[in-house]
Amino acid sequence: MLSMAGQSVMPDSRLQQSLEQNLEKVKSLYAEALSGPPTDLQVTETGTITHIEGGIARVRGLSSTLSEELLLFPGNVTGIALDLTPDDIGVILLGDDPAIKSGETVKRTGRIADTPVGDALLGRVLDATGKVLDGGSTLETHTRSPMEREAPAILDRSPVKVPLQTGIKAIDALIPIGRGQRELIVGDRQTGKTSVAVDTIINQRGTGMVCIYCAIGQRGTAVARVVDTLRDAGVLEQTIVVVTSGEDPPGLQYMTPYAATSMAEWFRDKGKDVLIVYDDLIGHARAYRELSLLLRRPPGREAFPGDIFYIHSRLLERSAALTKAHGGGSLSALPIIETQAEDISAYIPTNLVSITDGQIYLSPVLFRKGLLPAVDIGKSVSRVGGKTQLPAYRVVAGDLRLAYSQFQELETFARFATRLDKGSQATITRGQRVREVLKQSEHQPLTVIEQIAMLKSVTEGLFDHLDIDQIEALQRPICEVVKQQLESIAQKIEFAEKLSEEDWQQFVQLLKTVINTPTEQTH
Ligand code: ATP
Ligand code: MG
Repeated sequence: MLSMAGQSVMPDSRLQQSLEQNLEKVKSLYAEALSGPPTDLQVTETGTITHIEGGIARVRGLSSTLSEELLLFPGNVTGIALDLTPDDIGVILLGDDPAIKSGETVKRTGRIADTPVGDALLGRVLDATGKVLDGGSTLETHTRSPMEREAPAILDRSPVKVPLQTGIKAIDALIPIGRGQRELIVGDRQTGKTSVAVDTIINQRGTGMVCIYCAIGQRGTAVARVVDTLRDAGVLEQTIVVVTSGEDPPGLQYMTPYAATSMAEWFRDKGKDVLIVYDDLIGHARAYRELSLLLRRPPGREAFPGDIFYIHSRLLERSAALTKAHGGGSLSALPIIETQAEDISAYIPTNLVSITDGQIYLSPVLFRKGLLPAVDIGKSVSRVGGKTQLPAYRVVAGDLRLAYSQFQELETFARFATRLDKGSQATITRGQRVREVLKQSEHQPLTVIEQIAMLKSVTEGLFDHLDIDQIEALQRPICEVVKQQLESIAQKIEFAEKLSEEDWQQFVQLLKTVINTPTEQTH
């Protein structure tokens, strides 16, 4: 090797070889660079938590976030972007974790808040995000649907045509509900609101109706009791229980009824009939009020934010019956509202009364008197369900309502008068028996023919000669006999056929025989 000024000099051939090698290396580096960036790299937008309080986080640096987009917080907690401002965003957290602190990082997911849907949900108890709460296996569904969806368009809706039987005599006869209707259940605390809704679910056993019980802000024990009742009654397999408790972050409580409605809509859009119970929307309104105050939105009447009407109407507008072209399914809603001191004209109850198609009012006075279910017929109404009522009910409902209202007027007066004329006496006798027949134990819904049998007996005056306390014991034999012997009439009633004069005569004759048999034996 030649040496010049202390440096080694390569011979020409070796230099050539080294240059060629380097050129190859450079070429392959270029080729790699030109083939694009490595595909396993992901770009995520991240922001920083600037403030956290009461289940609300304010986040900076996520300026392109979509409204209601899911964001990922430390500890794998998700949040929903609700309040988008030019400077930062307000996020409602769907969970809690000690790692969520100011200065921590938040990631965008690009997904709008959604909830699992599908057949796998039936028989399960879950929260709005699909977390299983019944201790069973995780959900086997990968189908998800946005929690908030638009209500069906007017042209896609069909009029309410098919009755939704609750199995409760007082309601099916006097405040009939149709499939696709929204009927409010309203009353003070402990007046039997949940029982009416749960009994309606129980009455759907074997009808193919899918039921959703959505509990918002209730005690865990109360929800567990409802789940047990549904399981014992054999309807849990066709029911989904969606729960958020009072201890959950207000954001989760707020989103739960929307998520439950999306679960219901999945079935409705497949042509099924679905019933959803929201127990109760006062809890929902309170959670939203808390959120809004934390988001520093201006409070209005009773400190509720101005859009409280809109959040409830947006929810309940999603219940509807659809036309045949859209599968012919229906979603009926039974929202529950608790009143205080019978004040039905408070802010949220009046809102809900005007959003829904009628209300079932449960009176604490009737409840205390033991007249259960404590339905106050005078203050209850159903605006669209009457058209769907089966013809057999119409035959008895008019007489029933008349007898009862005449009796109520006279009853107060009769307390003071010692002697009454014969006509008034007869009205009181009939009215007392009507009231007795309208009583019904919880979780014992009656079929249509059973209800008609009891109601026809009282309107025909077949109970008039009996003592009031003898009537209850007659319900069971009457129901059994009509079920066994009047199968063809029962079918006609259920298929909404009008009964002929002879049918009614045969019906009443049979009722007379049953009612009079045990009394003859006791004489
Ligand atoms: P809350 O305000 O606590 O939610 P609620 O209005 O939902 O109460 P329920 O829990 O349904 O009322 O009923 C209150 C109590 O009345 C329960 O103990 C229930 O068992 C009883 N009850 C309700 N309806 C009837 C009925 N028809 N017959 C007998 N008991 C009933
Ligand atoms: Mg209740």
